[in-house]
Amino acid sequence: MPVTVIAAKPQERTHDPSKYRFIDIAVNLTDPVFRGLYHGKRKHDDDLEAMLERSRAAGVKSMIVTGGSLHESKEALELAHQLGLYATVGCHPTRSSQFDQFPSGPERYLEELDKLIAAHLTGKGRVVAVGECGLDYDRTHFAPAEVQRRHFRSQLALAKKYHLPLFLHSRAAHKDFVQILREEGFDKDGGKAVGAKGGVVHSFTGTSEEAIELMDMGFHIGINGCSLKTSENLATAKAIRPEWIMFETDAPWCSMTSTQASKPHLTSLPPSLSSLYFPPATKPESFVYGRPVKGRNEPAAIGGVAWVVHRLNEGIPFEKVAEKAWKNTVELFGLTELQ
Ligand SMILES: [Zn+2]
Repeated sequence: MPVTVIAAKPQERTHDPSKYRFIDIAVNLTDPVFRGLYHGKRKHDDDLEAMLERSRAAGVKSMIVTGGSLHESKEALELAHQLGLYATVGCHPTRSSQFDQFPSGPERYLEELDKLIAAHLTGKGRVVAVGECGLDYDRTHFAPAEVQRRHFRSQLALAKKYHLPLFLHSRAAHKDFVQILREEGFDKDGGKAVGAKGGVVHSFTGTSEEAIELMDMGFHIGINGCSLKTSENLATAKAIRPEWIMFETDAPWCSMTSTQASKPHLTSLPPSLSSLYFPPATKPESFVYGRPVKGRNEPAAIGGVAWVVHRLNEGIPFEKVAEKAWKNTVELFGLTELQ
């Protein structure tokens, strides 16, 4: 009878969390849920500071606060200044009706965005991208497609004027999205020839072919929990070339849940990292200060996003995956003080 030696279970490689660092390129820090307010109703105490503390412990060294309208961009800049972060200035496609509804007209709205950028180009809390702008054909009830297209195009001029990268949103609109970019001179090298500096298509949920087309045009791709929901999403995430990838959470949105395709890849997350990236959360009703809130995503979870991408690219060490995204982010947005 053959005898076999029972091999010892391979030791789980120890992971020193301090080796992995992240920049969350998409955080909606102006969202009132981080102050305990949900749809105008207070459910718990303001815990922004505790949430930021958890993020720091999870290796999140900096963040880019998303500005989704003129008003929100002002708030984003203010928060970024207070907290030593960065911000974007622009108008989200679902809010692009604000241009036409602006009391002194759409030109004036654009001018206000322009002035806001001009006044915050340097120093602490500065603007590092024009956006969030783009197209969202899943939500044309907020702004008709024609309105979205017009004001996406007008914001592209700001990126050229200030040589700033774009922070882009594209949902169910790929064809029109790339057509406008191409017509405006962003067809290759991220629009270098027209004075632009590329950008990132954040919260990417398109196909591999669409991702490849965007990378070929010189755009980065931002991956978060929403980009890892289905097996098709995972195939797309795997198709992103290392030099074009960035990580984000889009907090408080895009939490990774147990029913999504990312879940099996998260089961291998070592406990030393899991306790930092996904600390036990409580429901808003049973809030405990210092604990995450169920259903409210936060930047600490960015390591989980990077872990899934590392698992999809079997063999590439986690540290290398995290560092590549870090380097891409620092370079595109000119975050030289983080080097
Ligand atoms: Zn978005």
